[in-house]
Amino acid sequence: MSSTPESASPVVTRFAPSPTGSLHIGGARTALFNWLFARGRGGKFLLRIEDTDRERSTPEATAAILQGLTWLGLDWDGEAVSQFDRRDRHAQVAHQMLERGTAYKCFSTQEEIAAFRAAKEAEGASYAVFQSPWRDADPASFPDAPYAIRMKAPRTGETKISDTVQGIVTVRNDQLDDMIVLRSDGNPTYMLAVVVDDHDMGVTHVIRGDDHLNNAARQQMVYDAMDWQVPVWAHIPLIHGPDGKKLSKRHGATAVGDYQALGYPAAGMRNYLTRLGWAQGDAELFTTDQAKAMFGLEGIGRSPARLDFKKLESTCGWHLAQGEDAALLHEIEGYLAAADRPALTSEQRDLLVRAMYCVKDRAKTFPELLDKAHFALTSRPVDVDEAAGKALDPVSRGILGELTLRLQNASWTKQELESILTEVATAHGIGFGKLAAPLRAALAGRSATPSVYDMMLVIGQAETIARLQDAAA
Ligand code: GLU
Repeated sequence: MSSTPESASPVVTRFAPSPTGSLHIGGARTALFNWLFARGRGGKFLLRIEDTDRERSTPEATAAILQGLTWLGLDWDGEAVSQFDRRDRHAQVAHQMLERGTAYKCFSTQEEIAAFRAAKEAEGASYAVFQSPWRDADPASFPDAPYAIRMKAPRTGETKISDTVQGIVTVRNDQLDDMIVLRSDGNPTYMLAVVVDDHDMGVTHVIRGDDHLNNAARQQMVYDAMDWQVPVWAHIPLIHGPDGKKLSKRHGATAVGDYQALGYPAAGMRNYLTRLGWAQGDAELFTTDQAKAMFGLEGIGRSPARLDFKKLESTCGWHLAQGEDAALLHEIEGYLAAADRPALTSEQRDLLVRAMYCVKDRAKTFPELLDKAHFALTSRPVDVDEAAGKALDPVSRGILGELTLRLQNASWTKQELESILTEVATAHGIGFGKLAAPLRAALAGRSATPSVYDMMLVIGQAETIARLQDAAA
């Protein structure tokens, strides 16, 4: 296979969250797309915390974002980069732009800028791009005063963004102002910081929400001003709620941590989020390795994806059924901690792993799975709920008592258990169902359980007999 120049250069993607809140489901999907794209191409996936807004950025939010990514299994290469820590480098680039003549010192004060706008408005303009009088001023005329560094933006023509998802997006240059890259207090602006960081981090593909599409035009000017290679842009449509409206809290959980606490398996979340706004043929259910192999920017749709909780659940159900028992146990422990539920004892852990084969099939979430595994996790005396208790009457208790005797010397295989139960039912002239109901009550205290054989095999002979004796008494 011949390799194109593009496939020859290593792919570097990044996720660049602002740490002002928890990791949102939309952000998680952006991170996932970047991760899949890089991991499927032997590339790098980097993490940058955009913490330049000192008032709104918090260490708690950073921790929550890292935690959410870790839960989803989205590992990043190297240390997370702090954008704030790189402010000297951002300022340095602003000064390099001055030297290159692609930026200039602007001494205009806030008042002068406001006055410029007011004058334009008085002339009838609805919005006026500020035109600084310092753009072409003679340095000899510079006052000894603080200045901002502004980009010398083109005033005529158009800036074209070639976006992999959105196509060619054209912005008229007279709509773009000479944006400030370094404020008069010496602080770099966000728009500069993003570009400098992406450039320095070697980012080849910027995959992010389309709420940043407008920024791309201005960011591209910074690349051009520095003669840097513009990355491949891919602006992905946002996620909407099931009703097609912008996703918000009223649609349900929006923070990734909430999904962990609700007991969705990470592999299911990854699969579901991959399909949220991306498609390849009719692939719906796939492993993460398959997703890495399939994922590409060409499969990203142009219209907003709708969150569909039913589909999320069925996807998660498929992944639970596929899950490897020890890995599921590990994840369940994480779920219990996230949901503030009591941790498993070591005995419960062992029993849960033994029960996994008969409980992971029809569960869609971990709480559902644990509910099905209740028989294995509970201990004697088993609490019998009202519905199940109805099956325990003097006659059925008598039969259970008899059954305990028959089970004493049984070899503990499904085959033998089947023949014993069939014999006992036949001897009493009752159908198997009539026998299974009190058995379920005795073994699990509930009427909806895995099969009585599975329960007996999982908890073992001694415990089965003890529970039957409890119920018979
Ligand atoms: N920090 C921005 C955000 O959280 C992302 C910027 C980017 O991806 O370029 O929305």
